[in-house]
Amino acid sequence: MTTTATTTTTATTTTNSDTRVTVLGLGAMGSAIARNFLDRGYRTTVWNRTASKSTPLVEAGATAAATAAEAVAASPLVVVCLLDSTALDEVLASVEPAVKGKVLVNVTSGSAGQARANERWAGERGAEYLDGKIMGDPPYVGTDRVMFPFSGSRSAFEAHESTLRELGSVAYHGEDAGLAAVEFMAQVALAYELLIGYLHVLKLVQAEGVDVVEFTERFAGSLPAYPALLGSMGQAVKSGAYAPDLGSLDVQAALMDDLIAHRESLGVDTMRMREVKELMDRRIVDGHGDQGFSSLFEVLGGAAAQV
Ligand code: NDP
Repeated sequence: MTTTATTTTTATTTTNSDTRVTVLGLGAMGSAIARNFLDRGYRTTVWNRTASKSTPLVEAGATAAATAAEAVAASPLVVVCLLDSTALDEVLASVEPAVKGKVLVNVTSGSAGQARANERWAGERGAEYLDGKIMGDPPYVGTDRVMFPFSGSRSAFEAHESTLRELGSVAYHGEDAGLAAVEFMAQVALAYELLIGYLHVLKLVQAEGVDVVEFTERFAGSLPAYPALLGSMGQAVKSGAYAPDLGSLDVQAALMDDLIAHRESLGVDTMRMREVKELMDRRIVDGHGDQGFSSLFEVLGGAAAQV
């Protein structure tokens, strides 16, 4: 890396002239991160519990530290990428004497609560803490196909933003260290919610003898309409003013029995459609049949259920 390194994806100008960075954890993801820093000219120190995993990186120019604490001592910026919070706690305990004055960037998967606890741990020991989550696969580290939400110390993020942008597409979510995990959990959950719905529909389509790939291609043509719909639904949820999006619930509910019966006739699981119908029915019973699909938000539990 030079002080004006330009990445292939993020056109980053590195303003932080200190190019030392340490990576703790050299699994598939940690190795990709360390390799990416090396490729961009960073003076990279690495450590891994199983020392042999550092060999390819050392051959590429990295310095392998004998202990995690030595690795932390070598750089002002320390990126930690371990399997889980149990591994993280073990490694953090072993580096405790070395963390004062360091910026710890933890990209190990974990919860918002764990991130906040890590931040307290670091703060009590004189270190700054940034929590990051990784959305993407190791081969794509260094490209915008990997997204990194970060949260925690704003000053640490601003000081090292250009270095972090070497890793992929980066967004800062705020000083509450838990917010990157909140974003990660929400994005992952939404993907699963959408994709299980997609698989249910493929079952239906295939049961009708329609080619699932051709159907998918046709549905993909509908996708450009979704950002606007999602945006208006988000606004409705935020404001609590539910226009009849997708039509009124009274009209939509009449369709649900047909959708359920269609699935039953093909022997396809009806669970998801029954859930939607039940939510609609509850909303209608509550006197909101004139509202739209977004208003189902009010019967999904949690604090909003009191509204
Ligand atoms: P790997 O299983 O490849 O590597 C796990 C790493 O954690 C290794 O360095 C391993 O060391 C270390 N480790 C495990 N337990 C301990 C312990 N008790 N003490 C010290 N070190 C330990 O996982 P990845 O690199 O793929 O994943 C790392 C993080 O990145 C995870 O939190 C994962 O969820 C996240 N992530 C991974 C993605 C992927 O596609 N790989 C995608 C998005 C996020 P050792 O080599 O000695 O076993």
